[in-house]
Amino acid sequence: MSDVSPQSPSLSSPQGIAERLRSGERSFSFEFFPPKDEAGETQLWNAIEALEPYRPTFVSVTYGAGGSTRDTTVRITGRIARETSLTPMAHLTCVGHTVAEVDAVLDSYAGAGIANVMLLRGDPKEGPRAPWTPTDGGLTYATELVELVKGRGGFDIGVAAFPEGHPTAASLEADADVLVAKARAGAQFAITQMFFRADDYVALVERVRERGVDLPILPGIMPILNLGAIQRQGELIGTSVPADIIERIQRYGEDKAAIRAEGIAIAAELCEELLEGGAPGLHFYTLNRSTATLEIFDRLNVRV
Ligand code: FAD
Repeated sequence: MSDVSPQSPSLSSPQGIAERLRSGERSFSFEFFPPKDEAGETQLWNAIEALEPYRPTFVSVTYGAGGSTRDTTVRITGRIARETSLTPMAHLTCVGHTVAEVDAVLDSYAGAGIANVMLLRGDPKEGPRAPWTPTDGGLTYATELVELVKGRGGFDIGVAAFPEGHPTAASLEADADVLVAKARAGAQFAITQMFFRADDYVALVERVRERGVDLPILPGIMPILNLGAIQRQGELIGTSVPADIIERIQRYGEDKAAIRAEGIAIAAELCEELLEGGAPGLHFYTLNRSTATLEIFDRLNVRV
């Protein structure tokens, strides 16, 4: 296994993600979602505490469908900024918001000490494959949100990327054109949807580089701990689980511990392939738990 160390804490900018990604240091980052209740909140903070010693480049907090978690996203990212050594990034979508409302959320983020935002279109209520209708007075594509935030200034900007293409994109080439348009509009880095073949990531990076854009693209890592759930989610968001991986997991029948261990091993292998293939780092979908990420770190020899 390769020996990969977490980000050095001595980099010049404690807040700007773009500069840290461009410094050449290997990046690790963790994604959380806004908890729905007190038990969820406790679980989230336990995960943050367990992962903080690994000095991630940043941690991100998602924005719920339809802006439903707006206040929690502001509160959690603000608390991370105030009470931890971590660099937070807040997500923001166009769903259900007028431009004035988007501006107000950005004001709240700035007021909470957040200097990094992940800008997304978001999905229709009916799901990622449903036809998209923008809100009156709102924005149509993530590119427009990037332009708006770039115009305001004050934030480093991340955007979404799709190794297997966005489920509604006309083709992989058209999908790459959209990512490149987001970079040209002001996005400074991208994070990918979950995927399970390193080749899909490498091909996406190549498509972007062929278009003359050197945007850092962080692969999003989701270990398969429950095959059925990942397959169902994958169908919605356009991520396929390769047959050889299904076979490796199904080999263990109903043995939950063995299935989990295999899911972790598969994720660690993907991480190694990605890092060896030139990925600038790894972004972990933690689902507000630390255990799986730490099990992968153990296999990658990442230590505190
Ligand atoms: P866009 O880049 O606007 O693309 C949306 C669709 O429109 C694509 O099919 C694209 O090809 C097409 N398109 C874009 N521009 C044009 C154009 N000019 N002309 C024609 N077609 C165009 N969702 C949430 O609700 N909250 C979150 O916090 C969240 N976090 C995410 C984090 C990551 C890392 C990722 C990968 C996704 C996340 N999502 C989140 C999901 C995301 O909102 C959906 O995938 C959404 O469907 C697409 O968002 P986008 O920003 O890529 O949209």
